[in-house]
Amino acid sequence: MSAIKPSGRWQPAFYPFRKERAAKRVLARTELLVKGPLFGCRMCGNCLLQETAFICPMECPKGMRNGPCGGTTPELRCYIDETRHCIWNRIYRRAEKLGREEMLLEVLPPLDWQKAGTETWGEVVSLIRKTGTMTFLGAMFSKDREKKEKVWDGVFKTIRQPAWWQGDADYHAPLYDEPVSELERELRSGRFVIATEVTPPLSADSEKLIKDIELVKPFVTAINFTDSSSARPRMSSIACSRVAVECKAEPVFQISARDTTRTGLQADAIGLNALGIYNVLCLTGDSSRVGPSPMSNMNMLDIDSIQMLWILRRMRDEGIYLDGRKMKKPPKLFLGAATSPFASEPHLQALRDHKKVNAGAQFMQTNLIFEPERLDPWLEALDKRNILGKVYILIGIAPLKSYRVAEYLHTKVPGVTIPATILDRMKRAGEAAPEEGLRIALELTEAIKKKQGINGMHIMSLGWEAIIPRIITESGLPVKQITAL
Ligand code: SF4
Repeated sequence: MSAIKPSGRWQPAFYPFRKERAAKRVLARTELLVKGPLFGCRMCGNCLLQETAFICPMECPKGMRNGPCGGTTPELRCYIDETRHCIWNRIYRRAEKLGREEMLLEVLPPLDWQKAGTETWGEVVSLIRKTGTMTFLGAMFSKDREKKEKVWDGVFKTIRQPAWWQGDADYHAPLYDEPVSELERELRSGRFVIATEVTPPLSADSEKLIKDIELVKPFVTAINFTDSSSARPRMSSIACSRVAVECKAEPVFQISARDTTRTGLQADAIGLNALGIYNVLCLTGDSSRVGPSPMSNMNMLDIDSIQMLWILRRMRDEGIYLDGRKMKKPPKLFLGAATSPFASEPHLQALRDHKKVNAGAQFMQTNLIFEPERLDPWLEALDKRNILGKVYILIGIAPLKSYRVAEYLHTKVPGVTIPATILDRMKRAGEAAPEEGLRIALELTEAIKKKQGINGMHIMSLGWEAIIPRIITESGLPVKQITAL
């Protein structure tokens, strides 16, 4: 299969030994022979080339079907395999050239694995027949753009948007009135909100976790618990969130697509409220490529973060599972997403964030920001898309404890860049590096507080929880005594 495809092949062959009719097999091979060289097709059987500027996104090692992951290198290469360009960057650029970038807003479904490896041409032909071959051809040669799009969508949208998904490019306002969590209540109030992050323990001992929660609790509205960041296993986010609830603190449960299937996501979603958890941050998660050996599977996630948001929003607002089954009591969820404002050009990043908001993100937490002045073009691009009023934005910062930490973040953490001036300050500080790191955090806070369109900050401790109270008190940030719902 790979010999005829442009560039290397990441995704595995889908069911190469499945029994099927000879005619179907021939059709599938022919489709691959044509679409492989033309579009980089991987025969996922769930064709969405129409919406991805005619470049198959299945070349992405993570199998991202709704946009890039935020880990693109500054040279716009894939951080999992730097010999290759990020396929989503290529899709964005081609879409721009073709004037099709707004089509990238449509929320596309996860794979239906029953179809993976099968041809789609047969389905196209039968849908054209259903429409009427002459009607279809007439519309294609018609000057009436509306008619053309309607007939075209009648065929191709039916294929890419199955009845169990029904994705679109529209904003869906949450269908509830009362805030479901303290974090949502605070953000709605218009106050500048501070969230932080407590690092989950590396063992079954929760003593330090409780100590850290108690330490930061009086100063922040909510506490995030990462989901095995950098693909290193730690105490699960759901367990840490429950411990936080028991400490009368408000957790933000982080869930990464890397370790989640569609079944697991829905199962977690209906159990969260029983544990007192209401805030959920959906993210793709770092590839196992950056985790410890032996390396886990790098190929293909079951769902991406945008699909997670879409599934959870529909569970909450429509009370349905992905397969369409109705549930008696839907979960109450305040949904968040991660964003990486400098991962690509501001207007392209804004397009990606717009899609997350449309899919269901009500708040967004950025990754680590060390150059606040670079936020302006991104905020302007969000404003142009009219989404600033639809999502709360919390800017992420972190105190640097040493030069080694700064260098690690700069060189090893996808999507994080630290300017040379800050790296230099940390290096020159020597033993006084922690104090210098605090000074830098206070300067960043000062710059971020003044920006319009920002609703708060997310201070990531990177294991240095003890410094959080100092950052908040010394920067004059509002201190909030949190109470669990
Ligand atoms: S894994 Fe991320 S950086 Fe690599 S191709 Fe996919 S979206 Fe691009």
